Amino acid sequence: MATIFEKIIAREIPADILHEDELCIAIRDIDPKAPTHFLVIPKQVIPRIGEAQQEDQTVLGHLLLVAGKVARMVGVEKGFRVVINNGSEGGETVPHLHIHVLGGRQMSWPPG
Ligand code: AMP
Repeated sequence: MATIFEKIIAREIPADILHEDELCIAIRDIDPKAPTHFLVIPKQVIPRIGEAQQEDQTVLGHLLLVAGKVARMVGVEKGFRVVINNGSEGGETVPHLHIHVLGGRQMSWPPG
């Protein structure tokens, strides 16, 4: 069964798309946890970072570069946080790898 992110990539459901290229898409999170909250999602389905393989190295690096590029584009110049939730204890709810980028407010540490 297709994940919600596959449906967004296939334009079967709408999303606020900030960036798209041959390897990934960046969309605004539908339930933002910060004034700026977007997701960078590979078009290739990797369920989670803990299951990524050596051959995924290029796409994984690309996701981080796009995270930084889109962060600059949306103007979180004072700082932002990059998060990947992995597995149920890690807070993952969609089994299709995605990088959260959060900004626009002071982040606290440790995270919840
Ligand atoms: P995670 O809990 O790390 O798996 O993150 C999944 C994220 O996807 C959550 O922050 C959700 O708010 C977000 N999300 C779920 N459905 C959509 C959607 N249709 N459009 C944008 N973001 C979504």
